[in-house]
Amino acid sequence: MGKKLLVTGMDFLLDWVKQHIKSAEIVCTSNVSEENLCRMVEDADGILYMQALNYPITRKIIESGKKLRFISSAGVGYERIDVQAATDNGVVVMNMPVGTTVSVAEHTVALILACAKNLVKAHENVVKGGWRLLAMGVELWNKTLGIIGFGRIGREVVKRMKGFEMNILVYDPYVEENEIRNMGGRKVDLETLLKESDIVSIHSPLTKETEGLIGDEELKLMKPTAILVNTARGELVDEDALVKALKERRISYAGLDVFRQEPLNKDNPLLTLDNVVLTPHMAVQTLDAVIRMMNQNGIQVEKALNGIYENVVNPEVLTKLKK
Ligand code: NAD
Repeated sequence: MGKKLLVTGMDFLLDWVKQHIKSAEIVCTSNVSEENLCRMVEDADGILYMQALNYPITRKIIESGKKLRFISSAGVGYERIDVQAATDNGVVVMNMPVGTTVSVAEHTVALILACAKNLVKAHENVVKGGWRLLAMGVELWNKTLGIIGFGRIGREVVKRMKGFEMNILVYDPYVEENEIRNMGGRKVDLETLLKESDIVSIHSPLTKETEGLIGDEELKLMKPTAILVNTARGELVDEDALVKALKERRISYAGLDVFRQEPLNKDNPLLTLDNVVLTPHMAVQTLDAVIRMMNQNGIQVEKALNGIYENVVNPEVLTKLKK
């Protein structure tokens, strides 16, 4: 019997997937309910998974895959895949860590500028027939940028923001001080970063340790003029505390691409604020990044179908692979 690849949540990419992946029959579904995926995964060798659409790959789905050998997340994040369940069942989990870094960094810069310069409010005002806003923007020159998480994206943001001649502070407990200094930054603890930064930009992954990293106490440390930007994951910030801080003008602005619940509920209080710029988890959504990322996914999944696994996030599983 030939191999089968289950592609979830990416119907719109079916033609592309078929052109790039030749070693398996492709079955695509946009019905990402647990019940449907349990049924469709039964005879699949692998899953290509689009996490940005925000549904989990549960233990039940993994255990329904009698032949399942791998799950490949099409992007960087894989926190909605039950990696422990995959490991327990001898299933390799992979992600695609590169390809989208520059787009996310550029989107972060766009959000920083949109907040600092009141771009969205000004645009809305002009469209409504108004002209100049009374609200003042701020310069970035000589101000302080605080980066939380100095990985691929955090570093690309720093490279770009140095053009604005900003001071750079970094909080990342897992990166050596000299690596940060070599890129013109200063390694600090979280409290110092929050107190001293004019812009705080979050680029750490969602883990048990980082969930709720920025809560009420942390927001209280920030300057009333500070801007918070989050293009990492919504769960890193306590959204209720953030709404309160923005309403009370304890911080000045937030630029957000990611949210606790996506898509946003219609009654989410963030939608009522005039000091936010909100984008729909679209930081990777450039033609350049999507083509690059999907080509790399094509190569990675094709190799996985032939037993070669790259970007494995549960390497301990490699010793007990299904024959
Ligand atoms: P990365 O793994 O290269 O970097 C993450 C950095 O965070 C690492 O340097 C790590 O040491 C650091 N870190 C880990 N725990 C930390 C903690 N407790 N406090 C501070 N720093 C900590 O990842 P990346 O490629 O730079 O991506 C970062 C995140 O961006 C991803 O995990 C993903 O959630 C998010 N992302 C979002 C989009 C989007 O569309 N908005 C797209 C891609 C990635």
